[in-house]
Amino acid sequence: MHQIEISNLSIDIVRKGIKNMHLSVYPPTGRIRVAAPLNIDDDAIKLFVISKLAWIKRNQRNFEKQDRQSARIFEERECHYYEGRKYLLRVNTQEAPPKVLLKTKKYIDMYVRPNTSKEQQQVILNEWYRKQLKNNIPLLIEKWEKNIGVEVSSWGVKQMKTKWGTCNIEQKRIWINLELAKKPVYCLEYIIVHELIHLLERHHNNRFLALMESHMPQWKVYKKELNSLPVSHGEWKY
Ligand SMILES: [Zn+2]
Repeated sequence: MHQIEISNLSIDIVRKGIKNMHLSVYPPTGRIRVAAPLNIDDDAIKLFVISKLAWIKRNQRNFEKQDRQSARIFEERECHYYEGRKYLLRVNTQEAPPKVLLKTKKYIDMYVRPNTSKEQQQVILNEWYRKQLKNNIPLLIEKWEKNIGVEVSSWGVKQMKTKWGTCNIEQKRIWINLELAKKPVYCLEYIIVHELIHLLERHHNNRFLALMESHMPQWKVYKKELNSLPVSHGEWKY
């Protein structure tokens, strides 16, 4: 990988055996990366990037905005998302093990011991998100393993910066981004289908798209929604 500079922007360039140039802007800093075919020289890449400058700047501005929006500081009535719905946070203190409850369609109630720091509150909420996902995922994997005709050996949930999910094809293991707990369940389902299809096809090629179409004809709608919902991070790669 090397870098080129264009109008104060540094661009990471990776050359691979691909047909078309591919431009990505990654959260949270707006890092720019171009994947280019092996036979394309830096001048051609520069022209390509210059033609996309408005798009790059727009995405970088969005990341800045989203960063402000997603820097949760655990204030009373701050808004947090769960399964695509918006809730207001209520922090209650009590001398008991911490817990999180959804008692109504409006509030996420967090119960913590007195003097629990904001960082600890973040951990408690994240662990709750993780638990919810871990409750939802097994049934979805089971359903889609049958439909697609594949089997995973294991799966897990973790926080990832740039991907909604990953699939290790050799180990048949999939990872799901913790952030998906905040999205509608069909978005989670879409990512699971996407990762399971990788067990049949490694690359995002025509065969992959055809498999996606046949198993989940609505996938483009879900993808669009996933990338446009609040606190999402723009164009994620997966
Ligand atoms: Zn993929």
